[in-house]
Amino acid sequence: MKYSRDNETFTKVSPFVIKRFFSCYLKGDLKSVKKLRDGTVLIETADDLQSEKLLGIKMFSELPVTVEPHRTLSSSKGVVSHFDFLHLDAETISEEMASQGVTGCRKITSRRNGEIKITTSVILTFAMETLPSRVFIGYESVPVRPFIPSPMRCFQCQRFCHIAARCEGKVYCLRCGKDKHDGDKCAEEARCIRVFKMVLRFLDWTIRGDTSVGGKAPIDPPPPPRVSSQ
Ligand SMILES: [Zn+2]
Ligand SMILES: [Zn+2]
Repeated sequence: MKYSRDNETFTKVSPFVIKRFFSCYLKGDLKSVKKLRDGTVLIETADDLQSEKLLGIKMFSELPVTVEPHRTLSSSKGVVSHFDFLHLDAETISEEMASQGVTGCRKITSRRNGEIKITTSVILTFAMETLPSRVFIGYESVPVRPFIPSPMRCFQCQRFCHIAARCEGKVYCLRCGKDKHDGDKCAEEARCIRVFKMVLRFLDWTIRGDTSVGGKAPIDPPPPPRVSSQ
């Protein structure tokens, strides 16, 4: 829930007033109500009836407000594979499966020898917190696997947790891990850049002693754990 006018926020609104408002407006207790740093209020309802009533709220303390479902907390993502997905576009799949709670579809592609290929798998977004265990593709019941996004990786320095637009590192070749060379086609043997760099730095450390890493064995921080987005 947020105020409709840009200059109004919930930051200074008393939590007692918020509680009084909802207890008058709704039957039963809400699961949780939290004021967020951006000046909006995050409300977790106990059932669909409460959600429906909340979406109808237009005013709070005589000021216009907007209530909308949370974009990520109220949805889930799952991977579904089916041979027929090869011949159907994402929009058609999403439209045909809307009655099963599907609100979005993205095709999973794979890159082999520099060529991008469409796979039989898609990532479906469902308008529900709990991922369904199966969906129907026509008459066929197909399992849904939780979608686990890849960790954020920079395609400039090949490290994790930032993107190339915010990178202050050196540019390395994505394929061989050496300094970036001319052209996109790399003829070198493919290898993991993180392991390659670690071995180089470790050799430097053992041969020349403490040179650049403050006496500690040079070990990169591990990539962040993969988190399920359901
Ligand atoms: Zn980077
Ligand atoms: Zn290369």
